[in-house]
Amino acid sequence: MRVCVFCGSSFGGRPEYAAAARALGRQLAERGMGLVYGGASVGLMGVVADAALAAGGEVIGVIPRSMVEREIAHAGLSELRVVTSMHERKATMAELADAFVALPGGIGTLEELFEVWTWAQLGLHRKPVALLDVAGFYEPLAAFLDRAVNERFVKLPTRSLLSVETDPAVLLDRLSSYEPSPIISKWA
Ligand code: AMP
Repeated sequence: MRVCVFCGSSFGGRPEYAAAARALGRQLAERGMGLVYGGASVGLMGVVADAALAAGGEVIGVIPRSMVEREIAHAGLSELRVVTSMHERKATMAELADAFVALPGGIGTLEELFEVWTWAQLGLHRKPVALLDVAGFYEPLAAFLDRAVNERFVKLPTRSLLSVETDPAVLLDRLSSYEPSPIISKWA
């Protein structure tokens, strides 16, 4: 099983973020789960990759050629795929992975998370999507999503597709035992 991790290309403002990225990377490797991510060596992206590699895990990075210098492509990965565009990056990561996790991050992280989640909503894949909430970073987003359900813009089954956990071990247990529910139809 391979897990795609979306996370900040920065460290964020609290040491807890890097600690969680490190814990997630290490636990992926210890469970024999591969890591797929954006291939950078900067910020939390570098932290999660380094932790998985240090624990003997497989790490595949996918980075657009134009970002190789800006995000400083990681030189020590099991495999680095250099692709031609941001869209190809996301499509490649989605194909390689069996599950998706977002750690804290900026708009790149959010964009990647929402895209794979909307693909699930449309029935384009049946892979689990989860948030690892650290230091309450995602609490306001979870509350907003609940509001979007209450206001009838998001269906409850769609909201339920996104698990939110605070403990990397619990989150990985959930992903490992995930049984896809029948394809939900946004249009039903
Ligand atoms: P951020 O969360 O903004 O620090 O960005 C995290 C990662 O998302 C970085 O590797 C960005 O290059 C990447 N990213 C940002 N926008 C996009 C996009 N539209 N498509 C694919 N990756 C993106």
